[in-house]
Amino acid sequence: MTVFQYPKTKHRRQLSPRQFKRYQSYKRYLQAEFSRVCVYCRQPDSSAPNLNFGVDHYRPKSIPRFANLVCDYDNLYYCCGSCNSRKNNDWPLDEKLGPYVVNPCDHEMAAHLRFNSKTGKVEARTPYGKHTEELLQLNDDALVQYRLGTLTTVRLLTAEIEQQELQLKAVAKQLKANLITQAEYAAEEQAINDDLTSLRYTLQALKGEVPLSSLRKTRLGITLIK
Ligand SMILES: [Zn+2]
Repeated sequence: MTVFQYPKTKHRRQLSPRQFKRYQSYKRYLQAEFSRVCVYCRQPDSSAPNLNFGVDHYRPKSIPRFANLVCDYDNLYYCCGSCNSRKNNDWPLDEKLGPYVVNPCDHEMAAHLRFNSKTGKVEARTPYGKHTEELLQLNDDALVQYRLGTLTTVRLLTAEIEQQELQLKAVAKQLKANLITQAEYAAEEQAINDDLTSLRYTLQALKGEVPLSSLRKTRLGITLIK
């Protein structure tokens, strides 16, 4: 199961949106760029739509010397409201020493942070990982309980989907053996497929796998994205 797992390789940015005046305009590009997951706690936005996902400035916008990076796409990350407010204006006093919050473009996240699906906790593996885990409070009780609950629900939904798929096959066999009528089969098939659609959607939402609508390349003749 990959939900909440940290990536093992560095992310190379895929999108290059045009320069916007407001950093909030980058949000939907960042959502697509980072597969609709908070880059720090790995929570999918579709599993918690009330979490107020937004744009994180890796080099904080409140530090005057980073003012020129406020709308620099490479400085922006997709992030849940909780991680964003906890990260706030964190930046090392000594840039050579760190510690830095780890991000998926500059760091191999899994080398610093590992998600333990048995405990629901994020384990720090390096000083940077420890700094990130502590600052963003990645193991606060509510988050850990939420992750464990999500994993349990994912398992239950997966099992239920398998069960419904078997049921669909069983009904087809009954039809073949003339044990039910074509009309009975059609009604049963429809009911099962309706259930499956709903179950699959919920599962996708929990795992952050609901497809995003495609990004517009131009608007009013202006190129939005290369
Ligand atoms: Zn987060």
